Amino acid sequence: MELELESILLPGIEDKRPLVIAGPCSAETEEQVMSTAKQLAEKGLKIYRAGIWKPRTKPGGFEGVGVEGLAWLKEVKKETGMYVCTEVATAKHVYEALKAGIDMLWVGARTTANPFAVQEIADALKGVDIPVLVKNPVNPDLELWIGALERINNAGLKRLGVIHRGFSSYDKKIYRNLPQWHIPIELRRRIPNLPIICDPSHIGGKRELIAPLSQQAMDLGFNGLIIESHCDPDCAWSDAAQQITPDVLDYILNLLVIRKEIQSTENLSQLRKQIDECDNNLIQELSKRMRIAREIGTYKKEHDMTILQTGRYNEILEKRGSQGALCGMDAEFIKKVFEAIHEESVRQQMEIINK
Ligand code: PEP
Ligand code: MN
Repeated sequence: MELELESILLPGIEDKRPLVIAGPCSAETEEQVMSTAKQLAEKGLKIYRAGIWKPRTKPGGFEGVGVEGLAWLKEVKKETGMYVCTEVATAKHVYEALKAGIDMLWVGARTTANPFAVQEIADALKGVDIPVLVKNPVNPDLELWIGALERINNAGLKRLGVIHRGFSSYDKKIYRNLPQWHIPIELRRRIPNLPIICDPSHIGGKRELIAPLSQQAMDLGFNGLIIESHCDPDCAWSDAAQQITPDVLDYILNLLVIRKEIQSTENLSQLRKQIDECDNNLIQELSKRMRIAREIGTYKKEHDMTILQTGRYNEILEKRGSQGALCGMDAEFIKKVFEAIHEESVRQQMEIINK
């Protein structure tokens, strides 16, 4: 299905990368909301975020201040002129947020993973013209992410964007949520004019990762950043480890290098020609390798041998992994390539054996 899209840019917001949305993980008190908003507005930020309803893993945690906080966001609009946005997870949240004049909504990662909940939100939004940002589902499932966009688009909402906030995994060594950049990159390929906003706060889960992740997102040509910022991060009621002060946010944004997306230089097209030639050669060599693999298959069949010769397979992976490393590539990358090549060789040999 083709999405029918229109710009998410609100009046007065420049069409310039990065589009920045900033504000605390959660609205906690009127003072915290206002103080953070004023500091952000002073730094020139134009769109304010704050969670009013917080999805928590376990009961008993801080579940958000609820409707009361919407009045504070209204106050932010009035006092600073910033646009305000918040997360909605149910039809009731949608009604309350719209009633309070919220300018932009986002659908949280846990909600995107649930088609019933997304449909409920879509139904509640029917006939409303408001930008909606859909966070990726917690699990790395691009179809589920696109499905959520389709549901909201089918309800008539055209001002859609996505937020890449990383994917849940059991292994939390570096990231709180693995970036799995290939997923938003594939989304860009599938729906090129859909704005992608990166959420380095929830990907990294810690302050020191916000700058490098933001830079990576910009280098990939993503459109914006949504960053959690709090007037007193250490005392935040949720996600304290990943929130930064408006001052630090401003510092990080100023250091970002924004590269141009399209560089129509002659040099670039020359280099691309060379890449095409390399890719051609790779295909030729691969098909030669597969022909030989099939010959080996015939030999194995005639001599009643099993296809999988584990010793030989390990030898190839080890040898090519270290050779790749010597040539300046990641050994794990080369292993992956050879695993894929080996898989195809085995498939081709199976064909021969079963003939
Ligand atoms: C949030 O933005 O504060 C939030 C709850 O994010 P996510 O849905 O990505 O976990
Ligand atoms: Mn958060």
